[in-house]
Amino acid sequence: MSRPIPKLAGVCGWPIHHSLSPLLHSYWLKEMKVAGAYVAFAVNPKNAVEAFRSLKRTSISGVNVTLPLKSAAFSAADLATEEAQKLGVANCLYKSRGQLVAHNTDLEGFAAPLIAKLGAARVQNVSVLVIGAGGASRAVLGALLSLGVPEICLINRTDEKAEDLAGQVNVPSLYALPWEQRQEAVGRADLIINASAAGMSGKPDLDISLENGRSGALVYDLIYTPRVTSLMKQAKAHDMDTLGGLEMLIAQARPSFKLFFGQTPPMDLNPTHMLFEALESGRR
Ligand code: NAP
Repeated sequence: MSRPIPKLAGVCGWPIHHSLSPLLHSYWLKEMKVAGAYVAFAVNPKNAVEAFRSLKRTSISGVNVTLPLKSAAFSAADLATEEAQKLGVANCLYKSRGQLVAHNTDLEGFAAPLIAKLGAARVQNVSVLVIGAGGASRAVLGALLSLGVPEICLINRTDEKAEDLAGQVNVPSLYALPWEQRQEAVGRADLIINASAAGMSGKPDLDISLENGRSGALVYDLIYTPRVTSLMKQAKAHDMDTLGGLEMLIAQARPSFKLFFGQTPPMDLNPTHMLFEALESGRR
């Protein structure tokens, strides 16, 4: 019996040494006994479009793309999926019939843990507060709108960015409030999402108190270093439920793995523990 030819995929970024993706995909490859490898590629933003286009001339199945290359990946592709078009950036490039396709798995990655936690029906009845107006916030808003969330309030440290983003999306269920009114916004939300960079290890904590938050509300923090952010600690202290960012990281990787290696990692093959250990020990 001939052995299958190993498939190669990876993650591109600049810098890229901190990425957890090689550990995550390598875990699934090993556990699922798939012949393949997944590695990190440092790609200089100056040559990124050219580097991505050259993928078509290689045997690499596809790549994930992280900061600051997501726009370049979108521009380099011949085609874009609906998800990538919605966000105007790609976190995944793969080849189909000789063409380079831009895709974005962040929408699915954000939504899957949320639905698993609340259920799709409940998500359609929650009032949501989204904090942050960068790239992650765009994916969060796109996913929430697809899920049919009835009300989304957007706030950002720099008010203009929240106003601009809400204006670009332009749907009646989404509105921006000034940062000054963040405490009032907390009091009205059933679901609070931190899509800002505040609270990451080495960065200041989010300047928001959950004291007047609704008991039983869910706080979803996209940050995964540290594992339990100060916002999540506050939530627990005020009788609120929590969801951390590692779930999203894993959920956005699952569909990429399927595109690169042809199989979806089963849900019971859970890399959370292994990733936490890697984060704690500084191993990548
Ligand atoms: P980004 O485009 O650089 O945007 C950063 C956002 O954070 C901006 O809205 C910025 O506000 C806000 N911010 C930064 N420092 C702040 C502070 N001290 N207080 C309040 N707001 C602050 O970054 P991004 O790509 O959207 O990523 C945001 C976060 O999401 C990152 O921490 C990232 O790790 C996380 N993320 C997680 C996943 C996952 O899979 N779990 C996926 C994507 C992103 P200003 O406009 O005022 O600067």
